[in-house]
Amino acid sequence: MNYYSLNHNSPKVNFAEASLRGQAPDKGLYFPEHIPQVPKDFIANIRNYSKEEIGFTVMKPYVGETIADTDLQKIVNETINFDFPLVKISENISSLELFHGPTLAFKDVGARFMSRCLGYFNRHAYHKTTVLVATSGDTGGAVANGFLGVDGVDVIILYPSGKVSKIQELQLTTLGQNITALEVNGTFDDCQAIVKQAFMDDDLNQKINLTSANSINVARWLPQQLYYFFAYQQWQEDQAPIVSVPSGNFGNICAGILAHVSGLPVKHFIAACNANDVVPQYLQTEQYTPKPSIATVSNAMDVGNPSNFIRILELFNQQFSSLKNKMSSISVDDINTTETIKEVFQQYHYTLDPHGAVAYYALENCLQNSPSGAIGCKGYILETAHPVKFPETVEDAIGRSIEFPEQVQHLLSAEKKSIIMQADFNNFKEWLMSR
Ligand SMILES: *Cc1c(COP(=O)(O)O)cnc(C)c1O
Repeated sequence: MNYYSLNHNSPKVNFAEASLRGQAPDKGLYFPEHIPQVPKDFIANIRNYSKEEIGFTVMKPYVGETIADTDLQKIVNETINFDFPLVKISENISSLELFHGPTLAFKDVGARFMSRCLGYFNRHAYHKTTVLVATSGDTGGAVANGFLGVDGVDVIILYPSGKVSKIQELQLTTLGQNITALEVNGTFDDCQAIVKQAFMDDDLNQKINLTSANSINVARWLPQQLYYFFAYQQWQEDQAPIVSVPSGNFGNICAGILAHVSGLPVKHFIAACNANDVVPQYLQTEQYTPKPSIATVSNAMDVGNPSNFIRILELFNQQFSSLKNKMSSISVDDINTTETIKEVFQQYHYTLDPHGAVAYYALENCLQNSPSGAIGCKGYILETAHPVKFPETVEDAIGRSIEFPEQVQHLLSAEKKSIIMQADFNNFKEWLMSR
């Protein structure tokens, strides 16, 4: 399998090169040259396969010969070594819980797969690789955890001081080993600006082998397809599901659509957005207008120019009408988001996090109001983070405190270690050069 750049101005590369580069030299996103088809009888008999077998079958064509089969199976097994339960909330809506991984975020799967692939591709490399990540909360934890202890890779995380939740900060700052947390006196945008400048700085790039772990990397994007296969394995209804995905950079939903194009039954996709409504607007007007991001209670989706949206268009061969048939999108405000958390808790005793709540509201709205035959249909949401990661919003809405799940109990007694830094590139550069 080869990958081409969506800017069409770079050579095609295999999976190894696409994941080592992240972005093509022409700054385009890599896209698979063809969409492999999952065998029909595999889908029909999906209950008979283990999730490890599903993982290998789905990923193998994308990886091609760049990773030996036994190593790929090992990488897959380690990537998905926790549960992905599909839990019924109401008669018509279930929740695919993607927060049972080590950092309680769905990003664990992409980060674990990518880190192990990079470790594999770098296994004979003489030079260390340094991964730089700016995070507003969830990405940093998942990436740091994914890379923890991977040989030959150093991870440096920049996070805005005082602007991530308590658990998120502990997840970033207590790992040690090859993970270093920089606590930046500034905003997430400042952190991201420093990282971007670092990738363009000649001195740094001559001295250090820098890589990004951001979500456009194919090794982070492609394994997210597995969620949708795992959900289908647990799906009990005759009709294919309607799937509602809380979306920010649109990597997750794009992976779901890819799974569907490769043969997985899905009736309809809903891209559930918060106040950042570039895609809902696009589906109404056919005009794509990026905007500065707006802060919301579902902050992992505060994205004003979703980087993966261009891949979704490519999956529909740039045909607006086919996209509109298969995917709808709505924008849900903070009031409806917190009301949803409250109502779902009161009615069904299920605690949503703010991102899952956006998806729930969007799905319920679709099931109730859609003229397009959604009435009588059933669906599921992707619950992308554990509610304990957003305690203020959730506890306010449900009127009680949430317990820390087992995976993070140990954090409460762990010691925070961070390096405090001004939001200044030269300062950062000096520090990095002298390590
Ligand atoms: C990253 C994230 C999202 C958005 O996923 P995209 O793939 O960027 O659309 C949604 N919810 C949570 C909790 C996240 O961390």
